[in-house]
Amino acid sequence: MTFTAQQMRFWSPEVRELEPYVPGEQPKIQNLLKLNTNENPYPPSPKVVQAVQDVLTEQADALRLYPDPDAMALKQAIAKQQQVDVAQVFVGNGSDEVLAHIFKAFFIQKEPILYPDITYSFYPVYSQFFGVHTKQIPLNEKFEINVSDYEQQNGGIIITNPNAPTSIALGLDEIEQVLKSNPDRVVVIDEAYVDFGAESAVQLVSRYDNLVVCQTTSKSRSLAGLRVGFAIAQAHLIAALEAVKNSFNSYPMDRFAIAAAVASFEDQAYFEAQCAKVMASREKLVSELTALGFHVLPSKANFIFATHPQHEAAQLAQQLREQGIIVRYFNKPRIDQFLRITIGTDEQNQRLVETLKTHIL
Ligand SMILES: *Cc1c(COP(=O)(O)O)cnc(C)c1O
Repeated sequence: MTFTAQQMRFWSPEVRELEPYVPGEQPKIQNLLKLNTNENPYPPSPKVVQAVQDVLTEQADALRLYPDPDAMALKQAIAKQQQVDVAQVFVGNGSDEVLAHIFKAFFIQKEPILYPDITYSFYPVYSQFFGVHTKQIPLNEKFEINVSDYEQQNGGIIITNPNAPTSIALGLDEIEQVLKSNPDRVVVIDEAYVDFGAESAVQLVSRYDNLVVCQTTSKSRSLAGLRVGFAIAQAHLIAALEAVKNSFNSYPMDRFAIAAAVASFEDQAYFEAQCAKVMASREKLVSELTALGFHVLPSKANFIFATHPQHEAAQLAQQLREQGIIVRYFNKPRIDQFLRITIGTDEQNQRLVETLKTHIL
């Protein structure tokens, strides 16, 4: 919808200039196969479902009361699972909110923050929103991050690892190089996809006073609908995030989100089993798509980034949609011949492969 200047006169001037993030669509089509927003194809742990039911039966009266503003039960569950101190944990309403607080808390500096030219497209949105200066560092021709490119003046650094939408992961030694070469700047590692085969930088937190690691329950814990994200860092950095959060919304985590996420972190076995299934399905899908002529970047995520030398990506996306399969296409320089495809169950992936074979390629 568009509005006239007359109608927009009520908007704050800076809001008129915003270019908001556009999330992957959530259409309501029958028999739709949704491989466009990197959701987990498996349900959350049965213990999560039970925990939500318990809130209704045991704490129904408590819904009248505000939740714990510190979500201490959740911080403790995360601290235990991540083997860090509870003072090193920050929680928020999805990691998108955690990232917003990170930008506000650390990145409003004189020098520009650095991030790759191809990465999570929320970073430019937050930067505009908070007035953060930015400098985009091109990925190399293989779509990899060259960590030595991050040895230059900056006001902070944010790197998605594994990167999105490319799916390629950096090793911990490379992350350490970035941390060491920027001792006076905050380095944020956004690990939304780390549980699908990359190494987490959480184990570096005790040694680097400039490191913030951000994770989410949306992908690897099948809880995108719950909105729970978190950050791990030394206590002096967490304190800045708490100051920002308590200047914005004191109660971002509701009682359902706290109880359900606690149950998820307490069911490590279920979590590991689902991640293993997704990774095994990914390897199968990559080999089938490769056999069909696709070139697939090496993925450590629950999605792949694939291009076909004989077929236009935009057209492939459109043809798949006509068959009821939605993948993500970015009409952006450098990546406009790629499709980002979320890993589904083996059955779902098979439907994708069969559809490509029989109707499209
Ligand atoms: C999905 C995603 C997020 C946001 O996760 P939520 O916790 O659902 O808000 C953050 N960063 C990256 C790179 C993502 O892909």
